[in-house]
Amino acid sequence: MTTVIENDQKNDRLEVGTPLLEVKDLHVEFHTRDGVAKAVNGVNYSVAAGETLAVLGESGSGKSVTAQTIMGILDMPPGKVTQGQILYRGKDMLTMSNEERRRIRGRKIAMIFQDALSALNPVLSVGYQLGEMFRVHQGASRKEAKEKAIELMDRVRIPAARERVNDYPHQFSGGMRQRIMIAMALSLQPDLIIADEPTTALDVTVQAQVMDLLAELQAEYNMGLILITHDLGVVADVADKIAVMYAGRIVETAPVHELYANPAHPYTKGLLRSIPRLDQKGQELYAIKGLPPNLLKVPTGCAFNPRCDVATDLCRTEIPALHHVTDKDGKELTGRRSACHLWKETLHG
Ligand code: SF4
Repeated sequence: MTTVIENDQKNDRLEVGTPLLEVKDLHVEFHTRDGVAKAVNGVNYSVAAGETLAVLGESGSGKSVTAQTIMGILDMPPGKVTQGQILYRGKDMLTMSNEERRRIRGRKIAMIFQDALSALNPVLSVGYQLGEMFRVHQGASRKEAKEKAIELMDRVRIPAARERVNDYPHQFSGGMRQRIMIAMALSLQPDLIIADEPTTALDVTVQAQVMDLLAELQAEYNMGLILITHDLGVVADVADKIAVMYAGRIVETAPVHELYANPAHPYTKGLLRSIPRLDQKGQELYAIKGLPPNLLKVPTGCAFNPRCDVATDLCRTEIPALHHVTDKDGKELTGRRSACHLWKETLHG
């Protein structure tokens, strides 16, 4: 019998490292009664086949709006893309017809949402929902689709998949439902998965299991993975590189271990300090002061300046560019950038 995994090998996979998706100078705004909110302000990032990019930021940073724009599921209006490109295998998705985009969505780029319970249909069995992909996109019969559903449930390690295929979403635990979401995203063997806070609703142990499973499948299928999260703690072991977002802009990019070892932006530094650590048991947990800005009233200069402990007058007037970052000898550090006037002091101070 042909398996889901064998089917995958027939797909036109790209070699590891080949550019898959490039977001270039993307601007998205929302027109509201109170004014225009610039939710995404010149965002650039890319992900290659077999690579994991973590996009990190608090709510309102623009990370999910960027992802929804890539998927073509942002409500427009009120949302509006005012500038930029989203290149999938070199072709701009923003200029594609609706039909072309529909063909990419789900088949080539799939999304895993935070809340599996609301993403799954409560009145249809999980087997029916998993099988639907094969019935609709590949013309499979009901029986074939059910077998495919069982195979996928096995693949994401849902115990007793054959017995549970007719169960409904509410009969599964949160972790198991998230595995079903992963199975659904994998079903058509996409090139790229966008996972938007895939483990936020789960407890820490289950979070780790789901993240490990996602990383394992991503490596096995040579997919690109964009992992959107507000939690630096969940990405260390799975991401290759990180883009940190704040108020609609990327403020730091770096290979994951370099960012953890030595951040080049005070915001990233604050996020790292807020991760609970075993060696600090009993001590009060650090929290960055203040709240992310209202996008209708973003502070002038660096948007982070009201929350930044080292802000200067320049920070209050001039928006910092996303500088290339260098080591102490002035040698450029590959993949590292920081949008901070004081990146040198932050990195080398
Ligand atoms: Fe802080 Fe200024 Fe750097 Fe912004 S530019 S993060 S306010 S030091």
